[in-house]
Amino acid sequence: MADTETIIAENAAHIRERIAKAAAGAGRSPDEIEVVAVTKYVGTAEAAAVVNAGFDVLGESRPQQLWEKSPLVENARWHLIGHLQRNKVRRTLPLVDLIHSVDSPRLLQAIDTIGGELGICASVLLEVNCSGEAEKHGFTAEGLRRFLPELATFSHVEVRGLMTMAAREGGTSSAAENFSMLRELRETAQNEAPPEVQFTELSMGMSHDFEVAISMGATMVRIGSLFFEGVDR
Ligand SMILES: *Cc1c(COP(=O)(O)O)cnc(C)c1O
Repeated sequence: MADTETIIAENAAHIRERIAKAAAGAGRSPDEIEVVAVTKYVGTAEAAAVVNAGFDVLGESRPQQLWEKSPLVENARWHLIGHLQRNKVRRTLPLVDLIHSVDSPRLLQAIDTIGGELGICASVLLEVNCSGEAEKHGFTAEGLRRFLPELATFSHVEVRGLMTMAAREGGTSSAAENFSMLRELRETAQNEAPPEVQFTELSMGMSHDFEVAISMGATMVRIGSLFFEGVDR
């Protein structure tokens, strides 16, 4: 049996190839696509193996897991990709490069206020619930549009784009619909937001649908399971 480090390195190489292929198929450069390696299923040894395999942007969906793991993995940069409660903002902000999952005006307000207190300008994406599933967090399309003018009032957040999770059901064709909606919303947001806000990033696509997401313009894909196939966890 190959050891865990070797398995993860092979999985990582395979992911890199698939991204290159998907990018080429879409007439894009793989350099335009940032991979967030989602380590929520594993411990810090496996997370370190992902970094050693050349993927140094790691994602966690639970703030507590991010707090625990981030000091123990060297040379990694961390993104929070899951729901953030306002009472966890203070402890999370200094640890992350990007929060993908800002899902309400109240949360953005809290990040701005605490960012001001800590002297941090927080990079964030606004999460949109494109599938409309009740259990998913995120702005509705309409809610996002209503909120756009207010972006001018925040001084300690930099909104950099949008994030979504595809519908659980419906396979790649419904994922494609969700991704296409997010891309169109980015256009709308870019046109209607205050001019200083740049909606550059589209964080969409996971292990099962990242190739579709890349073909539809994803600039960030969040891949977890594929890194750890064949690893005991
Ligand atoms: C877990 C998770 C992922 C990664 O999912 P996989 O299917 O394991 O690749 C991506 N994004 C979010 C928000 C997640 O919670």
